[in-house]
Amino acid sequence: MRLKGKTALITAAGQGIGRATALAMASEGAQVWATDVNPKLLESYTGTANVQTAVLDVLDKSAINALVARMPAVDVLFNCAGVVHNGPVIGATDAELDFAFNLNVRAQFWTIQAVLPRMLAAGAGSIINMASVCSSMKGLPNRFVYGTTKAAVLGLTKSVAADYVQQGIRCNAVCPGTVDTPSLGERINANEDPEAARKAFIARQPMGRLAQAHEIAPVIVFLASDEAIFATGQAFTVDGGITI
Ligand code: NAD
Repeated sequence: MRLKGKTALITAAGQGIGRATALAMASEGAQVWATDVNPKLLESYTGTANVQTAVLDVLDKSAINALVARMPAVDVLFNCAGVVHNGPVIGATDAELDFAFNLNVRAQFWTIQAVLPRMLAAGAGSIINMASVCSSMKGLPNRFVYGTTKAAVLGLTKSVAADYVQQGIRCNAVCPGTVDTPSLGERINANEDPEAARKAFIARQPMGRLAQAHEIAPVIVFLASDEAIFATGQAFTVDGGITI
């Protein structure tokens, strides 16, 4: 029970890595607030011990503040919400870049601002931000908007870590490789030849396969726990060898 006594807030916990992490944290004894913009997806938590759900659109700042105000003090914040846009710089639109910055970066800024005062009062807290190997770590083809915003997540993470390192707050990022989640499936199926697209995603993984969401969650559980007490400001890569 590595997270016993901790309250965790997770965004985009309806499916994929957010959901796998909510279940992993709950099984380690955390009281998990699993949130998502899509209420249907949250129904799957019915009857799951240590998990309560709340609809939360992270693009809505006042909704974030209202939710945090009715929660107990948050010990662990996992900012998982994010969106992937496809394509190079040449065709990218302002609207795409704005949307991705809002969802991938600004929403993290908002949730952190919402939980931080009570973390500071408690003198402890762990913030984990979802980034990606596709960021300042590595350029990948057709990920201009995505890589730009996920690089910003690493900067945001280091800034928060630097400002609060002496006040018991840790802030880290997690950088997965390619994970077989529902949205990846949608991106694959949007291609003319989905089978070839899946093979291309697998080909960029030196391990020769995609990750499963439950293979990313343990790193986030570790960062949430006191085992990671000396770790802050870092990007933790779980990428099947992409950045070897
Ligand atoms: P996903 O993309 O399949 O699911 C995303 C979830 O986010 C959905 O449940 C959706 O309802 C929710 N969501 C969308 N907009 C929201 C909003 N405004 N407010 C709250 N929730 C919202 O899940 P995933 O593929 O596990 O991706 C989760 C995170 O992991 C993203 O930040 C993504 O960029 C990152 N990531 C994914 C991969 C991958 O290969 N799947 C790799 C690296 C990083």
